[in-house]
Amino acid sequence: MTIQRPVKHLKVAIIGGGPGGLSTAIALSQIPNVDVALYEQAKVLREVGAGISIGPNTWNVLELLGVADSLTSGHSTATILNMNAKTGEEVHRMERAGLETGKRPNIRTQRTKLQSALLSHVKPGTIHLSKKLLSLSDKGHDGVELHFQDGTVAVADLVVGADGIRSVVRDAAWPDYEIKFTGTTIWRALLPWEGVKKLDQRFETTAWWHGPTTHVYLSPVGEGLGEIAARAWHDPKIHSASKVSWGVPVDKDHVESHFQEYLPQIRQVLGMVTEGDWREFAAFSGPELSQLTAWDNKIVLVGDSSHALSGAFGSGAGFAMEDGYTLARALEYFRNDVHRALPLFDAIRLPYYSRMYEYLAGEAGKRAAKLEELGDSASYDDQVRAKIIKGGADMGWIYNNDIGSVWRSAVALLDSDRQ
Ligand SMILES: Cc1cc2nc3c(=O)[nH]c(=O)nc-3n(C[C@H](O)[C@H](O)[C@H](O)COP(=O)(O)OP(=O)(O)OC[C@H]3O[C@@H](n4cnc5c(N)ncnc54)[C@H](O)[C@@H]3O)c2cc1C
Repeated sequence: MTIQRPVKHLKVAIIGGGPGGLSTAIALSQIPNVDVALYEQAKVLREVGAGISIGPNTWNVLELLGVADSLTSGHSTATILNMNAKTGEEVHRMERAGLETGKRPNIRTQRTKLQSALLSHVKPGTIHLSKKLLSLSDKGHDGVELHFQDGTVAVADLVVGADGIRSVVRDAAWPDYEIKFTGTTIWRALLPWEGVKKLDQRFETTAWWHGPTTHVYLSPVGEGLGEIAARAWHDPKIHSASKVSWGVPVDKDHVESHFQEYLPQIRQVLGMVTEGDWREFAAFSGPELSQLTAWDNKIVLVGDSSHALSGAFGSGAGFAMEDGYTLARALEYFRNDVHRALPLFDAIRLPYYSRMYEYLAGEAGKRAAKLEELGDSASYDDQVRAKIIKGGADMGWIYNNDIGSVWRSAVALLDSDRQ
C-alpha cells in the first residue's frame, strides 16, 4: 500500500486581474488546500482594449476551466480578409473549413465579455481592488512580503506574477530584465457597427486593411458593435514611446493622420470614432526568460509577464489562461509542493514560449529578406503584398493547442519515469 503524503496548505497571492490572473484564481480554487488572494491595481476591474479573438486553443482552456459556456457573445471569424487599404484589392482570403460537430466557432468578441465570463467563476472574496503592488521581498522560509501603494502589506507562500507585460513581480525577481519599444503603436476603439456596414459591405467581414507600414483591422464583435484596431510602425531607433503608454486616451486627428492615403470609406470609419474614445497602446517587447520561476519556487510568472511578446500571435489571453490551468494541475499533482510543481510548470510552458520566440525571429528574418529583395523602389502595392503571408507555416501548435492533452502527456511521462 502506498501512503499518500498530506496536501500542503498553500497561501497564494496573484498579482493582476487580467485573463492570466483570473484564470489562475479559478483553477487554483478547484484544488484542495490553497488560499487565493488576487490583488489588482485598478479601482474597478475593466478591460482596456476593444476586441479579442477566441480560437480553438482558447476555447479548450475555457472548457477546462468550466468557463466556456459563460462566453456567449461574439462574431464568427470563419472568413478573414487581407486587403490593400489604398486600392481595395483583396490580397488574401482565409476561409476556415466547416466545423467538426461539437466544436465552438472562432469568434471575435469584446474583451469585457471574456472578462465577465471569467469573473463569474472567481470565488467571491478572492479579488482585492485598488491594490497596486509597489515592491516585494524574499523572506526566505517565511515566504514573500508584498508592499502595496496604499501602505498595506501581505505575505504569501507563492506569488503569481500575472501583472502583464510591465510586470512589477518580474522586475523584482529579474532586475536586469528590460522591455523595449517595438516601433508599433496601436489605436483601438469600439463603435456601433450598423452605420459602418452601410459604408462598404466588406466591413461585415473581419479584415485587415494594409498599407506598407500601417494597417487598420476592422471587425464586428457581436451585439451590434465593431472594433477598430489601427496600427502604425515607426523606426524605434528614431521614435521612442513612453513605457506607460498603454490604454491612454489620444486625439482623433492624431490617429487619422497616419491613414491619409487609405480608401475614403476606411477614413470615414476612423472619423466615426467619437473624440475621447480612442486609446493608444505602445507595443513593447522583451527577451526570452530562461526560467519562469524564481526565489526558490516562491515566484512564478503567468501570461504576458512571462513572455513579453506584445500580442504577437493575437492569442496571448489564451496563453495566459493555459499557464493558469497548468500551474494548478502541477500543484495538484504534487500535493501543493512548490519545489516539485513549479519546475514541472517550467518544463511544460518554457519550451512553448521558446518556440514562439524562435518562430518570430525566423519570420522577422524572412520579412527583412523579402523587403531587401524588393529594393527601395518597390511600389506601394508590392510592399503590401510582401507584408501579407499567404499560407505560411503551420501554426496548429499554437492555435489548435489542447492544454488538457499537453498536461495528460506530461503526467504520462512522469508516471512512466516513476515505474
Ligand atoms: C493589440 C493587441 C491585440 C491583442 N489581441 C489578442 C487577441 O485577439 N486574442 C488574445 O488572446 N490575445 C490578444 N492580445 C494579447 C492579450 O491581450 C494579452 O496577452 C493578455 O491580456 C495577457 O493577459 P495577462 O493577464 O497576462 O495580462 P494583462 O491582461 O495585461 O493583465 C494584467 C493585469 O495586471 C494588473 N496590474 C499590472 N501591474 C499591477 C500592479 N503593480 N499591481 C496590481 N495589479 C497590476 C493590470 O491592471 C491588469 O489588470 C492582444 C494584445 C494586444 C496588445
